[in-house]
Amino acid sequence: MNDCLFCKIAAGEIPSTKVYEDDAALAFRDIAPQAPVHVLVIPKKHIGGFSDIEGEDDAALAHLWRVAAAVAKSEGIAQSGFRVVSNCGKDAQQTVSHLHLHVLGGRALSGEMA
Ligand code: AMP
Repeated sequence: MNDCLFCKIAAGEIPSTKVYEDDAALAFRDIAPQAPVHVLVIPKKHIGGFSDIEGEDDAALAHLWRVAAAVAKSEGIAQSGFRVVSNCGKDAQQTVSHLHLHVLGGRALSGEMA
C-alpha cells in the first residue's frame, strides 16, 4: 500500500533495524521500545490489522507467529518469558495500520500492553 509506513519499511524505503527477514515477513526493532527487547513482526503483504484478516492470509499468519517465536529465541528471551501483543483499532490505540505483532521481553512485564 502506497502510504503505509510499515509497507515502506518492508520495501526498504524507510530504514529499520532488522532482526529477521524472509520473503513473507520482517522483524525489526521498535523505534520507541517499551522493554529491553521490543521487536515488531510484520507480514510483507499489507493487512491493515486483525479485523482485516481473511482466509487467504491463514498461511501468512501462521508464519508470522512462527517468526515471532524464532525472534524470541534469537533475542534470548524464550526461557525468561515474553509477551506477544497486537493492537487493533482505536480503543486498542493501534497507531500503524499494518498488522504487526509486538514481541516484548527482557524484564518482568506488568500490565502494560505495548
Ligand atoms: P501500535 O501502536 O500497536 O500500532 O504499534 C506501532 C508501533 O510502531 C509503536 O510501538 C511505534 O513505536 C512503532 N514505530 C513507529 N514508527 C516506527 C519506525 N519507523 N520504526 C520502528 N518502529 C516504529
